[in-house]
Amino acid sequence: MTDKMFVDSHAHLQWRSFGNDLKAVLERAKEKRVTRIVNIGFDLAGCLKGVELAENHAGLYATVGIHPHDAKTLNKKMLDKLRELAANPKVVAIGEIGLDYYRNLSPREVQRQAFETQLALAEELGLPVVIHDREAHDDILQSLSRSKGRITGIMHCFSGSKEMAQQCLDLGFKLSFNGTVTYPKNSELREIAKWIDLKNMLLETDCPFLSPQEVRGKRNEPSFLPIIAREIANLRRMSVDNLAEATTRNAEEILKLPVEH
Ligand SMILES: [Zn+2]
Ligand SMILES: [Zn+2]
Repeated sequence: MTDKMFVDSHAHLQWRSFGNDLKAVLERAKEKRVTRIVNIGFDLAGCLKGVELAENHAGLYATVGIHPHDAKTLNKKMLDKLRELAANPKVVAIGEIGLDYYRNLSPREVQRQAFETQLALAEELGLPVVIHDREAHDDILQSLSRSKGRITGIMHCFSGSKEMAQQCLDLGFKLSFNGTVTYPKNSELREIAKWIDLKNMLLETDCPFLSPQEVRGKRNEPSFLPIIAREIANLRRMSVDNLAEATTRNAEEILKLPVEH
């Protein structure tokens, strides 16, 4: 058992599967020392709900943004609404935004447009971004390279190669690791989790999705974050305490969360 607190840098507690037992979920998280949770926006309703949760719970924060799956819904009115929501002090980033060429739920060109528009919004507001990249590594890197030095943020659920990881770090991004690092066939990701400088790592659950291997099939939730931490700490031959402390500092730094001791 560790004394150090964790930040779950990427959760979706506004998702319908948490509709009935959110209070219990938050209590279990606290018991596991996951004291702060960032609820990531994906569509407008999810953004509104995420901000509402953050306003009502001390340890909760939110991001606002339209997921590449929903890119086709983004219009001027919605963008104005995101800008308005982002003025809330509990909103710490624009996201999740990016490209998903695996499911292609919005046409690729539309995804690219929505991504660029929201990168511009982040730059305008001086907020970091949370990036979703699935099988779109080249286009993601190209867009982020164009805004190098003006936008930083988090590559969530990183799924690229070590070379891409290095390119993301060179662009000032941090990488966030979740349950996928515990999946048996994911040795390349474990290699990256071992290799990367501690100062560039964050932890996330992406709940209710991507449950760690030992609870696979169950709904994921923030209280499972220490399972991910334990896997990475073992890989790096370090203590879970030190990993918790470092990843918490990193989340505080990039998302400008109030520093907790
Ligand atoms: Zn995502
Ligand atoms: Zn997500």
